[in-house]
Amino acid sequence: MQALVLDEPGCLSLREIQVPDPRPGEVLIRVQAATTCGTDLKAYLRGHPQIPMPGVFGHEYSGIVAAIGEGAPFEVGDAVMGVHSAPCRSCFWCRRGQENLCESIMSTKVLGSYAEYLLIPAHIARANLFHKPAELTFEIASLLEPLSCVAQGIELLNLRSDDRVLIIGPGSIGLMFVAALRLLGIESVTLAGRNRARLDVGERLGAMPSLLSDISGNFDLVIECTGNVEVWERSVDYSRRGGTVMLFGGCPSGTTASFDTKRLHYDQITLVSPFHFGTNAVRTARVWLIDHRMDLSPLISGTRSLDEGESTFEDLRQGRGLKYVFKP
Ligand SMILES: [Zn+2]
Ligand SMILES: [Zn+2]
Repeated sequence: MQALVLDEPGCLSLREIQVPDPRPGEVLIRVQAATTCGTDLKAYLRGHPQIPMPGVFGHEYSGIVAAIGEGAPFEVGDAVMGVHSAPCRSCFWCRRGQENLCESIMSTKVLGSYAEYLLIPAHIARANLFHKPAELTFEIASLLEPLSCVAQGIELLNLRSDDRVLIIGPGSIGLMFVAALRLLGIESVTLAGRNRARLDVGERLGAMPSLLSDISGNFDLVIECTGNVEVWERSVDYSRRGGTVMLFGGCPSGTTASFDTKRLHYDQITLVSPFHFGTNAVRTARVWLIDHRMDLSPLISGTRSLDEGESTFEDLRQGRGLKYVFKP
């Protein structure tokens, strides 16, 4: 089968690799849609600690079951959607209800959705692979993973419907936060950024678009979705006394941020910075995706074939488009 391989930053090649054979509990999927992700772009630009190189690439997917190992809870021909990781459910963190921090969640994940087939390990097939309803397209179903990250973030908050929320960064994650918060009944969602086309998408999803330079403080909740250290630091300026700042975008490793201690303490600003997701967040995201009131189609910028790997990531590098779908 053909698979996109990330050889080194900036270099993707299409290789012929063996179709894996499912062992007990495993599920082999014929990939129907595999969406690009900000994490993949980071890996393409500068490498990523969680994405080995050279290695098969892509982690968002939906597809049709092509073969199963003994005892796997699916049948050949089932349309499925899933995520690329699952917690062990036995380590310290899993037992403490912090599955997103499971000590083996990253080492047992699966990569390689930019390929004709993807083998889902047994523990992921058991916990985080689902039947895809017919009314949900494969393209949108492939968004389950990033939406699970958003659901994990929202799990950490005590949202109120009258909260005034500022989202900084109109990339696909910022836009999914807009869609999720609007679905949850939050009326006042401001989306700040520079990219006009992306702000327009935010407006379609129900946010008030704005340039960050036009914004003054006093939000109940600020959600930072840029992964830029300076923006992390400035996020606190937009929070009201007693507000919450969610630092969602991961910054390059080795970077540090500093904050005004007086503001954090005397204004009692809560900082949260969620990582990845547990099974509960995946279930929440699945319910949202199926809800007809949530329409994430404006996030899909186009369809690409596997031999357009490099040009697709070059487009993303230039800020053209939000998410592309590979249809292998
Ligand atoms: Zn992703
Ligand atoms: Zn664990």
